[in-house]
Amino acid sequence: MRYSLFALAREAFRSHRGWQPVWRDAAPRPHYDVIIVGGGGHGLATAYYLAERFGIRNVAVLEKGWIGSGNAGRNTTIIRSNYLLPGNQPFYELSMQLWESLEQQLNYNTMVSQRGVLNLFHSDAQRDAFARRGNAMLLSGADAELLDADDVRRMLPLLDFDNARFPIKGGLLQRRGGTARHDAVVWGYARGASELGVDIVQNCEVTGFVRDGDRVVGVETSRGRIGCGSVGLAVAGSSSRVAKMLGLRLPIESHLIQAFVSEGIKPLIPGVVTFGAGHFYISQSDKGGLVFGGDIDGYNSYAQRGNLPVIEDVCEGGMALMPSIGRVRILRNWAGLLDMSMDGSPIIDRAPIEGVYLNAGWCYGGFKATPASGLCFAHLIANGSSHPVATELRLDRFAAGHLIDEKGRGAQPNLH
Ligand SMILES: Cc1cc2nc3c(=O)[nH]c(=O)nc-3n(C[C@H](O)[C@H](O)[C@H](O)COP(=O)(O)OP(=O)(O)OC[C@H]3O[C@@H](n4cnc5c(N)ncnc54)[C@H](O)[C@@H]3O)c2cc1C
Repeated sequence: MRYSLFALAREAFRSHRGWQPVWRDAAPRPHYDVIIVGGGGHGLATAYYLAERFGIRNVAVLEKGWIGSGNAGRNTTIIRSNYLLPGNQPFYELSMQLWESLEQQLNYNTMVSQRGVLNLFHSDAQRDAFARRGNAMLLSGADAELLDADDVRRMLPLLDFDNARFPIKGGLLQRRGGTARHDAVVWGYARGASELGVDIVQNCEVTGFVRDGDRVVGVETSRGRIGCGSVGLAVAGSSSRVAKMLGLRLPIESHLIQAFVSEGIKPLIPGVVTFGAGHFYISQSDKGGLVFGGDIDGYNSYAQRGNLPVIEDVCEGGMALMPSIGRVRILRNWAGLLDMSMDGSPIIDRAPIEGVYLNAGWCYGGFKATPASGLCFAHLIANGSSHPVATELRLDRFAAGHLIDEKGRGAQPNLH
């Protein structure tokens, strides 16, 4: 069923009784050409592009809960391509371009809102680093503008510009960055994939792998054994756990990260703003709630709930940046499960086991990567070779020492 103004008007005249379910909730079949484990944004986007770009339609997405119940439905929805390194920047810029046409492509309102992403800087040295990153972005075809304090003041007059410790000296602005509605992205890709014949199987946890010699030929699930030609893992924060079933130890740690939403207030923040002297970022949703977050919790966990010290730390960051929000009430907070890689960059590669492909290590920033991740993972599974923008996102870079350490912080997952 296509969505259009005409369809909306037609349904209005028949009391909205004609809308169809957005995707088929399929029962598993005995065998698929490709099984994707994980019904988050990345798994569903991969299935969609396998069918749409590469004509591989005998595909199942197996999700242990409901689609979007992981990080895809828990993130703070920021999209951007403001990266420095050649291993990352072209990949994220491809993602940005895919976001820009996603609603037309999927015929689904994913609420892509290019309201700008502004990274503030607070010292001359930080300005130099941001100028360098902005130049790298321009060279890869992305947009970037270096703003001084007066430019930022015109956009965001309520920031604390003259904070004694962290005066705001300017910011690096990507106007094409912004936000998208996270669960609509999940539903849009699910709908697109389902229409092309992909089976989306919910409440189907992968509990083991079936091997024939060195090759994986199927998966054990909570709904029985399912055979496959190849299997793609797109389980984000559960990557280490699922890889362990294959006897693999990944260069990934799982950490919690929390997000916060305040009561609705009048328009205050036009785009996304990040504090450059601590880890704090904030935007304002269409309903008026401030949406913000900061650091990961300080230890490894699969708990999907956060702890008070990080809440205090995030609120301190907010108060240092914008004291005027101090009396706004927080309505909700929650946590998700991040797959923090050792260099802060993702992996889209074959696993060292025949028939298995790996999509993992998304750290803080996998939502913005969703379209390019899906396309590049589908390209890898369909062709057996990396997409040109994902050639650096290899698993063996950790053994070879060719890290993509965007922040130059070494093998410290909590610092990326
Ligand atoms: C609080 C928070 C804020 C964030 N903010 C941003 C942001 O602003 N911008 C940004 O770019 N990124 C952000 N991220 C990161 C981003 O959400 C993730 O990197 C991205 O969603 C990961 O990819 P995914 O959508 O496929 O993951 P998920 O949605 O986590 O999908 C993985 C799926 O695999 C399923 N699964 C796990 N194990 C199994 C199994 N054994 N069998 C079957 N299924 C299984 C899970 O249930 C889950 O649904 C944030 C994350 C969090 C938690």
